[in-house]
Amino acid sequence: MYMKKLKLLIIIISIFIFLSLNIVFGKTLPLKNKVITIDAGHGGRDPGATYNDIFEKNINLEISLKLEKELLKQGATVFMIRRSDIDLSSIYDSKKKRGDLYRRLQLIKKNKSDMYISIHINWYKNSNYKGAEVLYNPINSNNKTIAKIIMEEFQTNLNSNRTINTTDLYMYKNTTIPGVLVECGYLSNYEDRNKLLTSNYQQKIASSITKGIIRYFMK
Ligand SMILES: [Zn+2]
Repeated sequence: MYMKKLKLLIIIISIFIFLSLNIVFGKTLPLKNKVITIDAGHGGRDPGATYNDIFEKNINLEISLKLEKELLKQGATVFMIRRSDIDLSSIYDSKKKRGDLYRRLQLIKKNKSDMYISIHINWYKNSNYKGAEVLYNPINSNNKTIAKIIMEEFQTNLNSNRTINTTDLYMYKNTTIPGVLVECGYLSNYEDRNKLLTSNYQQKIASSITKGIIRYFMK
């Protein structure tokens, strides 16, 4: 009789622990309460890097939309700087490119982002350069950490042998909100160019960035 009661007690306790763990871990997605703004580079009048009829702006948008889906799955609140082929310049801007970047920055701030991710494709005169890489501005000390973690994911999941680097571009040195510039590969490289056009590779990039972001916020 005593053994039966003990068994019952153990079962009840086990169920209780199982349910508690579910409440603590099962229902809380890793990026819940995190606001992430995705900045798909270029767009509209600004194609970015080009190779024949391949425009960087289009690949940026495709990767960004995949990244949005991945981040939403992990519970993040996601803002998109653009979700179509537009730029953010105004007819009144004397410098269209600067106006475009300025408005991107304003949106990142307005969204109260915990992080921004800029998506771009690289171009270099030496066509041997290939692989995804992450750039950051040291204006926020967390930026290097974010860059390192996402770069590790690229090295592991995409076999990229590139490394992190700093950038002094206008957009990245003018916000203290944590974030990085992701260069998803080189449009100037034959191998990268072909991979970047496939949905499968774009998805791998989106998943790798997401894994990195989760690891960063879990730290
Ligand atoms: Zn670009």
